[in-house]
Amino acid sequence: MDAAEDGEDSCSIMVAVRVRPFSQRELSDSNTRCVVSMLNNETTVRSDNGSVHQFAYDFSFWSHDQGSGDFCDQALVYSRLAQPLLGKAFEGYNTCLFAYGQTGSGKSYCIMGHGAETGIIPRFCEELFARADTLASKNKVKVNVEISFFEIYNEKIHDLLAGSKEKGAKKATLKVREHPVLGPYVEGLSTYVVNSFVDVEGWITLGNKNRATAATGMNDKSSRSHSVFTIVLTQTKTESIEGQEHDHSVNSKINLVDLAGSERQSLANTSGERLREGANINKSLLTLGKVISLLSERSVTKKRKIFIPYRDSVLTWLLKESLGGNSKTAMIATVSPASQHVEETLSTLRYAQQAR
Ligand code: ADP
Repeated sequence: MDAAEDGEDSCSIMVAVRVRPFSQRELSDSNTRCVVSMLNNETTVRSDNGSVHQFAYDFSFWSHDQGSGDFCDQALVYSRLAQPLLGKAFEGYNTCLFAYGQTGSGKSYCIMGHGAETGIIPRFCEELFARADTLASKNKVKVNVEISFFEIYNEKIHDLLAGSKEKGAKKATLKVREHPVLGPYVEGLSTYVVNSFVDVEGWITLGNKNRATAATGMNDKSSRSHSVFTIVLTQTKTESIEGQEHDHSVNSKINLVDLAGSERQSLANTSGERLREGANINKSLLTLGKVISLLSERSVTKKRKIFIPYRDSVLTWLLKESLGGNSKTAMIATVSPASQHVEETLSTLRYAQQAR
């Protein structure tokens, strides 16, 4: 049951693009045109100047119904992109899924969901417990699930589940440390053992609430922070060898990440804190892009000597074990279909392309 030990860099990235439906605002503008079209796994964007840009990904998800009934709902996106990662996590791989795109393009909708249209995190957790129960009853494997939830804002880490037990606990800024064997971790982050999907739902609700509260009155801070939901899965089987009982454990870490909005920060009339913050968001997203494209180059060329700059941003440093090494990664790039956003859409699609 050991995690695959075949070569240290069998990282592979699955990339999907998802178009959200038009927003009310886009619909009420008579100049709005649909600039995105999809055919199989190909996505085409037509700019106003007539230029045509084509991209190919592992999956192209079309969200709004054009009458043909040919569109993808939350269940389908989950089953194509996230469910395979769950399988890999049970095999002992570290896994990571993140949503990238401009603010309002549907990242949170994909990762968390909206009302009854639940997204990847709740679906993933629900199935994880269902599988854990089956493993426990059929194979006598004990499954331990531990979660944490934090955000990275301006290269600083805030615990989204802190202070829930100790009333009035102050929200501290936490730091990344690197354990010689276990790798990077957030020092002082609260982690909770969860025993059921209902348990985990409670923590997710609390984390989302804390995220929203922290963002209030701060110029929509939540769109400028990355949120990271982490699950540590430990499977333990007791085996009897020559009459002696031995515990054999397999660990895997799963990171589900809602990235900060990818829109270019306007630096006009910006100074001090705001300027630094804009630069930091770009730094994390730029570093993540760089890390992913270098990892994919390394896996294609088999050149092990390529240096991967994980430590250039807090986000990539923390995701190191889930991006490189024996890991499976998926990325969902979210875009608007509307002509008003064509430049941001193109920039998102180019970003997603470098992962392949
Ligand atoms: P982001 O997290 O990128 O800022 P949101 O996830 O908040 O964007 O999405 C913006 C709005 O669009 C929300 O009201 C959301 O419910 C809606 N939305 C986004 N993607 C979809 C989709 N695929 N289907 C239906 N509604 C969507």
